[in-house]
Formats: sequence, C-alpha cells, structure tokens
Amino acid sequence: MSLIPYSRQSIDDTDIYSVIEVLKADLITQGNKISQFELLITRYCDCKYAVVFNSGTSALHASYFACGLSQKDEFITSPITFVATSNAGLYLGAKPVFVDVEHDTANIDTSKIEEKITSKTKLIVPIHYAGHPVDLEKVHEIAKKNDLFVIEDACHALGAQYKGNKIGSCKYSDMTVFSFHPVKHITTGEGGAVLTNNKDYYEKMLMFRTHGITKKDFINEPDGEWYYEMQFLGYNYRMTDIQASLGISQLKKLDRFVKRRREIARFYDMEFTDNPYFDIPPERQYASSSYHLYTIRLKDEFKHKKKEIFSKLKEKRVGVQVHYIPVYWHPSYQGMGYERGICPMAEDFYQRQLSIPIYPSIKDEDLKCVTQGIKDVFNEL
Ligand SMILES: *Cc1c(COP(=O)(O)O)cnc(C)c1O
Repeated sequence: MSLIPYSRQSIDDTDIYSVIEVLKADLITQGNKISQFELLITRYCDCKYAVVFNSGTSALHASYFACGLSQKDEFITSPITFVATSNAGLYLGAKPVFVDVEHDTANIDTSKIEEKITSKTKLIVPIHYAGHPVDLEKVHEIAKKNDLFVIEDACHALGAQYKGNKIGSCKYSDMTVFSFHPVKHITTGEGGAVLTNNKDYYEKMLMFRTHGITKKDFINEPDGEWYYEMQFLGYNYRMTDIQASLGISQLKKLDRFVKRRREIARFYDMEFTDNPYFDIPPERQYASSSYHLYTIRLKDEFKHKKKEIFSKLKEKRVGVQVHYIPVYWHPSYQGMGYERGICPMAEDFYQRQLSIPIYPSIKDEDLKCVTQGIKDVFNEL
C-alpha cells in the first residue's frame, strides 16, 4: 500500500476537458484564458485587480518589484515559511529581516515587528501559515504608523477569511500573493497570482511579467503599428492558457475544497483533542483557516523523538512532512551572515512540528488509516 501524502492535487474529468479544450484552440499561451482566470480570481477574493504568473515565487518577485523594493531596502518577514518568501526579496538585492513567530500559529509575532523596523525598512511580508490568517489589522496599523508596504504571502491561504473578509481582498494590505502549486488549494501545475486594489501596481506587474514590455503609453515616438517598447527590465513570468484554463476549472471547486479541508481538520481535532503527545492547531476568533496544512506540535517529552516518530509514521503509510526548516538555517542564508538563535520560537516550532495528510480528495479509509497510524505510533513509543 502506498504512502498517503501530506497533500496532493484534486483533479477530475472536467479539469481535464478544460485543458484539452485549450490544446485544440489557436492560442495555447497569450490568449484570453489568462484575463478570464484573473477576472474570476478578483471576483472570488473581492478585489479589483489580479495578475497571474508562472509560479507563486515569480508572483512574489513581481509584487516586491511593484512596491519598489530595491538593494537599499530591508523587508520584514518570518522564518517559518518556504524559502521563496525571502528569496524573492533577495532577487531585488533587498535584505530580509526575520521576526520571530507565535508558538502556536507560527505566524509572525506582531508584537515583535516594531523593534525590527529601521530607517531602511520598506515592506512587511506576513505569511498566513498553514492557511491561518495573520492578525492583519495589527500589521496594517504598524505599517501605517511607519509608512511601510504590506504584501501578504497567502500561498497557504486561498479561501481563508480574516474577520469575515476573504484573504485576497487586500483590505489591510497593498498586495496579496497566491500559489497554484499542486499541494496548494487549487492548481495550475505551476502558477501564482498577485491581487491588488492599486492600478499602478497592477500595470507595473503586467509589464514585469513580460520583459517590461508595453504596447501603450510609449516613451518614444511609435514607428508604426508593430511598435512596442521595453521600459524596464522584466522577465518572462507568463502563465500559459493551458494552465489558466485548468485554473478556471479548479476555481469553481474552491469553496468545496476548502469546506472539505475544514471538515477533515474538525475530524482530526475531535480525534486528537487533549491527547498527551501533541498539540493540535489553534484557530483564533478572527480567523477562518483554509487548512493548507494540518500541523501538530509535539509536547516537551516527545520533541526529541521527532526523527523516530517521523519514520515510524511513514512505515504506517502516514505521509508526514515538516514545514519548515527556519529559512535562515539554510547554508545559503548562513553564508549571508544570519546566525542560528535569532528567532527562538521559530526554532522551537521547527523541532516540534509535523504536517499530517489533508487534501480534499483524501478517502475516508485513508483518513482512518492516518488517525489509527498516529495513535499506534505514539502508543508504542
Ligand atoms: C508554495 C509557496 C510559495 C511559492 O510558490 P511556488 O508556486 O511553489 O513558487 C511561497 N510561499 C509559500 C509560503 C508557499 O507555501
């Protein structure tokens, strides 16, 4: 019997037909599926503009570029995230400054942001870890007081809500970034998007996605109808219409996907509440999590047995994973001079954390196998 993964895509026949439809059309890239997908995302999130990209990472890069982040600047983020969050700032020569996390949500500890703000700080990038929203009102308040941009790394949080507002509405931020990697809520194979209510950022990102090229508002006199102009250095970060069509089809099922993820989370909560081995993930009053991950935290007596627990769970088909190694522990970051110990809560979280399987298409018998496997492994320790 094969491993039950911590996450995977949920693709059905209608998704497959949506891809075939584009493969038979005239344009398989740079066609009209892109703007259709973008329009549907803005509607879903209740936001004005969306720009889709070929990955969540390129979407992050574009959003940081749009707010003008450059080599003179620092930006604040937290270390319990995928390396892309801070890497995207490094692409622009800016310096990531890591703020420690809350011990239970692993979201940025908003009470520790202000002490890290300097005259060079330009941007705060909170991550809605596991799909549980950060307290955005607090981040917004700090940003306003200190004249900083806020970009939400919402790669875990499509379909989540903060105080009744969809993540992606950008009510408390300048921009919000999503990923459509297969483990995320909806997929386009690889893909990502930035949402914003600001027209200038929107237009800058459209150009950034395609080499910094524009076909309007020229600087030079146009030579003829063929004319286009490159006005700054951009990239080829375009999504294909094949992917956008899959995205459109997937988006129709998003509410169902999120509902199912929340059902699975409630099932795990019931199975594991008050157990002596690990803590289950919290959900704050202001939050409705979209449960990209279901994260358990080993209690003191068990955190030193994580390696053993991890391999024993895998032997029982439970495809656990660890999210994440603190970003600045990676050799590349150590080489830039970040030292261990700068975010003790994040490091402690890393020692305790395990992600257990959660995805909409998980079968009931596999869910039972997961809960039984977990109970057996801990009882046999
Ligand atoms: C997945 C993810 C990304 C990057 O997305 P890709 O689509 O894989 O490039 C960035 N940040 C976080 C928190 C993620 O989970």
